[in-house]
Amino acid sequence: MDLPAFPYHPDPVATGSVEINPDKPCLCCNRIRGYVYTGPAYSERFHYLSGCLCPWCIADGSAAKRFQAEFTDTGTLDGVPDAVVTQLATRTPGFVAWQQERWLTCCNDAAAYLGRAGSAELEQDFAAARPAVQRELAPGQELTDLQKDGEPTAYIFRCLHCNEFLAYLDEA
Ligand SMILES: [Zn+2]
Ligand SMILES: [Zn+2]
Repeated sequence: MDLPAFPYHPDPVATGSVEINPDKPCLCCNRIRGYVYTGPAYSERFHYLSGCLCPWCIADGSAAKRFQAEFTDTGTLDGVPDAVVTQLATRTPGFVAWQQERWLTCCNDAAAYLGRAGSAELEQDFAAARPAVQRELAPGQELTDLQKDGEPTAYIFRCLHCNEFLAYLDEA
């Protein structure tokens, strides 16, 4: 079965925010859908949502509504319409970063999150994003210092309108 479409997070399996899991029922729809969401979930009342929701219940907003949950901290989002903020917070899989995650924006819209990258991924998967990452390097930092699962890590985005790559870096 195809996963639902998430315009701001087009391939959440590739980014690791959704995992294949043949056994785990979803806390929201109680069905075993074969995929679980493993990214962040922010809810005042429910602290065990990560790893317990299916992507369909995120896509249709039912998980956010039922558990008063948000899947991304949208506090840093600037200059995008409220509808985008809501879609990102309540109907889009989030992602895990070393620090509080930041969703990048471009052309008055949230950008599509493509995943974490280290120097190897910047060679193979995200070569076109290298200039965007280069701009974010601190003095003395090199592209070869970056690691996908170590630190510092680059987070790669692409604008849905002008197709520019965007990136930020963080470390633990
Ligand atoms: Zn579900
Ligand atoms: Zn743009």
